Amino acid sequence: MKLLIVNSGSSSIKFQLLAMEKENVLASGLVERIGETLGYIKCTFFPDTEQERKVEQEEPVANHHAGMLRVIELLCDPKKGIIADTKEINGVGHRVVHGGEDFHQTTLINDAVVKAIEKNIPLAPLHNPPNLDGIRVARELFPDAPQVAVFDTAFHQSMPSCAFLYALPRELYEKHRVRRYGFHGTSHAYVAAECAKLLGKKLADCNLVTVHLGNGSSMTAIKQGKSVDTTLGMTPLEGLVMGTRCGDVDPALHLFLQQNLGFDLPAIDHMLNKESGLKGLCGMNDLRDIHQAVAAGDIWAEHALDVLCYRNRKYLASFLAVLGHTDAIVFTAGIGENDPVVRRESLQGLHNFGIVLDEELNQKRSRTARCISAATSKVKVFVIPTNEELAIARETARLVEG
Ligand code: ADP
Repeated sequence: MKLLIVNSGSSSIKFQLLAMEKENVLASGLVERIGETLGYIKCTFFPDTEQERKVEQEEPVANHHAGMLRVIELLCDPKKGIIADTKEINGVGHRVVHGGEDFHQTTLINDAVVKAIEKNIPLAPLHNPPNLDGIRVARELFPDAPQVAVFDTAFHQSMPSCAFLYALPRELYEKHRVRRYGFHGTSHAYVAAECAKLLGKKLADCNLVTVHLGNGSSMTAIKQGKSVDTTLGMTPLEGLVMGTRCGDVDPALHLFLQQNLGFDLPAIDHMLNKESGLKGLCGMNDLRDIHQAVAAGDIWAEHALDVLCYRNRKYLASFLAVLGHTDAIVFTAGIGENDPVVRRESLQGLHNFGIVLDEELNQKRSRTARCISAATSKVKVFVIPTNEELAIARETARLVEG
């Protein structure tokens, strides 16, 4: 079975073609700067018999339809030996950011599903419209292939009301669905399933805290295999300190900024999403740069690292309280997989909760899933690389086969 995985953004389409028998990637790439004067197309091919081959081109790509046509041309190029015809693609899996309360799981796309994703646009005005563009174009260009929507929010629909309700006038929830939704669900679900395998248990028997630390970050408390709390809220701004996003701040901050500093709402929104987090504190949002700056004595780089790890620790301990018994903590994504300092500092002082890191294992570099806690640690600690495309592909395969 061959599946095309599509992540359609406002000016880009990221894609992967996978053969599901061995879960190997046949081609992977992106079309960027859609609608701009000069677009950018990159694709890496992984044919069975030969070395990987890359194509990189700059050319105008008028819209998502034109972008997807270029993807098809590349995949069907006889010289690349990937596929001969789009009919070989058995299904298309789409990443969709916001399913609101309508979607608790991965769903086969039909007209009603498209309408429901449209209905949720107010909850994700920047993401759901370009996700829908990708769906419309793919339904047109792959009319015979089942199309599947995999939602970032779906995994967290199992949260109980005590975790998802904000303490606001209840009409805001009843009439406008203002509540916590959570994101990165595909990644949390994927690493949780991988962790269960490493523990030799069924996922439904596992209590886990999964810690996704990338440019965007979130932590999820998973009880008996189901999300029961997560740090991102109605939008992907709440919770942990992120690359450029603030995470938790006092909600009255808006008023202060408006009344005293003359900010309007778009300026506040821009600042909280794009100019805050690590970047706001020290001017850098890549941990590799921040560590270098710390070594060179940059005090604000040190503050940024401290604030990040302190917030992680605070949420981690609160999720241990949410879960009661915890089998394991899982670190994943760019920072979680690669940064031993952030992992160590985020677990600092949690010995009394039964968490003991093996610093030698923590320092080891590897691209594979591994345990980094000491043999004496009651709660195991793992680093598990996330793979959102594979997770979307597995979900898509399940529905296409079913
Ligand atoms: P995204 O949320 O965009 O998918 P990633 O999960 O790829 O982001 O994470 C990107 C972040 O991971 C970078 O901004 C950087 O802070 C961090 N990162 C990547 N590689 C390393 C590394 N070797 N050491 C420390 N941090 C890293």
